[in-house]
Amino acid sequence: MTFEHLSLIAPILRALREGGYEKPTPIQSGAIPHALAGRDILGLAQTGTGKTAAFALPILQLLSAGQPAAARAPKALILAPTRELAIQINQSFIKYGRNLRLKTAVIYGGVGQGPQAHALARGVDILVATPGRLMDLMGQRLVTLNRVEFLILDEADRMLDMGFIRDVEKIVAALPRKRQSFFFSATMPPAVERLAAELLADPATVSVSPVSAPAERIDQKVMFVGRDSKDALLAALLKDQSIYRMLVFTKTKHKANRVAEKLVRGKISAEAIHGNKSQGARQRALQNFVKGSTRVLVATDIAARGIDITGISHVVNFELPNEPESYVHRIGRTARAGAGGVAISFCDKDEREYLRAIERVIRAPIAMDDSHPFHCAETAAARSGGVAPRPSNGGGCRRNARPAYAARNGRGAGGYARRESRQRWN
Ligand code: AMP
Repeated sequence: MTFEHLSLIAPILRALREGGYEKPTPIQSGAIPHALAGRDILGLAQTGTGKTAAFALPILQLLSAGQPAAARAPKALILAPTRELAIQINQSFIKYGRNLRLKTAVIYGGVGQGPQAHALARGVDILVATPGRLMDLMGQRLVTLNRVEFLILDEADRMLDMGFIRDVEKIVAALPRKRQSFFFSATMPPAVERLAAELLADPATVSVSPVSAPAERIDQKVMFVGRDSKDALLAALLKDQSIYRMLVFTKTKHKANRVAEKLVRGKISAEAIHGNKSQGARQRALQNFVKGSTRVLVATDIAARGIDITGISHVVNFELPNEPESYVHRIGRTARAGAGGVAISFCDKDEREYLRAIERVIRAPIAMDDSHPFHCAETAAARSGGVAPRPSNGGGCRRNARPAYAARNGRGAGGYARRESRQRWN
């Protein structure tokens, strides 16, 4: 299957060639024909599958034959949960639509509204927005939605997790009833399913992998470790110089700062991004990470939404998320666009429940890696229902027993996989 088989128009095919895209991904070949035929779409796809182009290409094509852009009255509205994702979606529209004359704008909170209001006033075909700022500007009559022909809800599950349901409902109520709607979500918990049923009429469902199943290319492992040894374990992993771009997740902003500070004190270039940082600081940190001047980016779940950086070789869950779906989102940051990746989860004794919940959702056990100096046998044994070995070092956790192991192994984190042992999954 090629893009030509999808009946895309020449200016779009040219933009795809110029962008180096050779053939459609499964979500694209599944969704685009239905979208071009005017159907609503329910897309079950996680990030990294090419889902943005799956809705952007047909919308660009369907709008390309229409009337010129009108001031403050977009024809396509894309709702995204975070500003980072909104910015990236807008960049994708610009990239794929570079040979068309359509106008796009992106609006999100946390920055002055002046330039955004100005962009809307100049005329806009495609508007990408986070719900809060859109509601603000609607209230001020700086944008009206009564000419919207296409609605796209991206990362709908995350949108609901973040408490945007009321805003989304109000926004949808302001749209014309006659429209084409696209709904994309990585997971389908009941609340998301209800929202999809409200928004979509007789949709074509396109699912690229079983819901919640992480990309198979990701090598997932869990390391059992005492809570106090997590910083040291992270530093030990980073002795492997082949890890050049690592994304680390924590549950709180405070913890993200602390982990980044400790790494910096250990002479490892690291930055934290989270909701307390200004938009400018977040963008700068992302750019440094893309450029390679920052080796480790420490992020909270919300701040990391929409991060689309190819070349993240390792994702580390410094703390396990209490929502299993977040695990799927987190590890999906690696192995983008066909590459492989490693996802390592640190699990202390208080996080075993979270690990069990994750394994239930991904429907598979995560392989244990005990080839590190901080392995906590007691926590590991409790996981598989086994008996903990007699504690020889204060609670069954190694404490820096082999501090120079990475150097001695000469292969560090990359070599762990060969020594991992598979656990029975209960
Ligand atoms: P998405 O799932 O939309 O966030 O896209 C993930 C990544 O895949 C982005 O970096 C896209 O540029 C890239 N991508 C999208 N479509 C294709 C394609 N057909 N071939 C190769 N890469 C693609």
